[in-house]
Amino acid sequence: MNILITGAGRGLGVELVAEALERGHGVIAGVRHPEQEQPELAKLAAAYGDKLTVARLDVTDEEGIAALAAELKAQERTLGAIINNAAVLTARNTPVEVLDLQDMLTTMDINLYGPIRVVKHFLPLLTETKPSIINISSEAGSISNAYPGDYPYSISKTAMNMFSQQLHVYLQDRGVHVLSVHPGWMHTDMGGEEAPTDPRQSAGGIITLIEQRKDPKGVFRFVDYTGKDMKI
Ligand code: NDP
Repeated sequence: MNILITGAGRGLGVELVAEALERGHGVIAGVRHPEQEQPELAKLAAAYGDKLTVARLDVTDEEGIAALAAELKAQERTLGAIINNAAVLTARNTPVEVLDLQDMLTTMDINLYGPIRVVKHFLPLLTETKPSIINISSEAGSISNAYPGDYPYSISKTAMNMFSQQLHVYLQDRGVHVLSVHPGWMHTDMGGEEAPTDPRQSAGGIITLIEQRKDPKGVFRFVDYTGKDMKI
């Protein structure tokens, strides 16, 4: 299967790339600045050759996303899965009284409108058998888990879960499996050093969810990387 992964240069993204390649999949790794050195992706490119394509993909740039989708279509490339992984965490623990609305706008642009742009333009390429869309969410997006602070991030993930649910309803009859996935509290730039979960372990769980996908029909599921149901 060929898998498109956004935010693929570091953190969970690069571990998803490594795990997918190790399991024999092809990967299109979307990064914002392919012209800058991407040491981990360079190592993977040396090991896996043309199974890995590194492409410019800034999730805020709709024209660029459309151009990449058109380029891949012209090359008759197809996808079996899209993983919307890129995200930012801004204005952490900031009380609403001092919240800078620019942080809301930036975060929604990347964490919510980004996946919408990517699905909008890459859906026509999702033609391989048993296709999936995986939206990387967070337990911070559970309404039942709401806590004050992290307004931009939590709200963006809650809204993304709605987008996932809408896609699930829209695409289940076409056989596309759509999941929102909480990857765990991971040891990455975003998660910090104290985080207990190795992002490679999360990546393994997420690729397994794609490989062992369930029947797309039925109720929408928001799960963690082991497949356990999360509260919406
Ligand atoms: P990191 O902060 O380590 O990495 C974020 C990635 O997103 C980077 O590759 C970054 O690229 C990319 N990115 C940011 N903005 C854009 C953009 N405009 N276009 C394309 N790519 C962009 O995050 P994690 O790896 O920790 O997080 C991965 C996912 O998991 C996210 O969706 C996050 O919300 C979710 N998550 C993470 C948790 C954790 O504990 N870490 C917990 C719960 C959920 P660049 O290098 O160019 O900045």
